[in-house]
Amino acid sequence: MTVFVAVCRACGDALFPPRLLCPSCGGDAWDSVAVTEGVVTEATSVQHRVAAPVHLVSVRTGLGVVLLARMDSAAEIGARVTLRQQDGAVVAEARAPATPPPPTTATRPR
Ligand SMILES: [Zn+2]
Repeated sequence: MTVFVAVCRACGDALFPPRLLCPSCGGDAWDSVAVTEGVVTEATSVQHRVAAPVHLVSVRTGLGVVLLARMDSAAEIGARVTLRQQDGAVVAEARAPATPPPPTTATRPR
């Protein structure tokens, strides 16, 4: 499920989760804007004695708003992640690194 951020129609501030009134201008009209990716700005892992560790990250989106998300594995600061919503929680997944184009072999006409 897609993550939606509330963007104030009056001042353009982006908020997550949405609020009744904009904390910047007091506006009450919002647009829902889908966010699908962002960059990890903080990361931590919570260790449990008996359960698997929980990995949490702060993700800055292109709209400037920072979301708290869970990850399946530890992340590094600066990593690009995709975002989705699952059972009401935001989940981040590491984006596959961009694959470089295959090297071209120059052929010279004879
Ligand atoms: Zn506003």
